[in-house]
Amino acid sequence: MVDIFSRHKRSKIMSKISSHDTKPEILVRKFLFSQGFRFRKNDNRYPGKPDIILPKYKIAIFIHGCFWHNHNCNRGRIPKTNTKFWQKKINDNKKRDKKNQINLLNQGWKVIVIWQCEINNKMKMKERLEYLIKEIRLSSVDSQNNKT
Ligand SMILES: [Zn+2]
Repeated sequence: MVDIFSRHKRSKIMSKISSHDTKPEILVRKFLFSQGFRFRKNDNRYPGKPDIILPKYKIAIFIHGCFWHNHNCNRGRIPKTNTKFWQKKINDNKKRDKKNQINLLNQGWKVIVIWQCEINNKMKMKERLEYLIKEIRLSSVDSQNNKT
């Protein structure tokens, strides 16, 4: 089959699809914005380039795809074909995730992970996002207490 796109264009398209501005990320950002939170996205000055950074609260949020980051849900299962290949790839991702999170914690950031499956349907999403607000507010209370 002949690809209608040049190789360069194709890889550009694929990279756009894979990493940034995936739908769950957009949903979470829109929600936070509507709640009056201001944030930065994919800031590469921080370990792991978190999907959302809330500088005021020192919170880094990752929105993880269940497959790529090996969530313990149905979507997180390793495929039955090419198992070794996927196992390695996904283990590498997990190791990297862990390292990034530890680095962020060491730099005084709080890390919140939101899984793709947690915002898959509207009901779950509502619950998850309400909880996220609680997590953010709680952490701002924490940092105030630490000052006194
Ligand atoms: Zn999941």
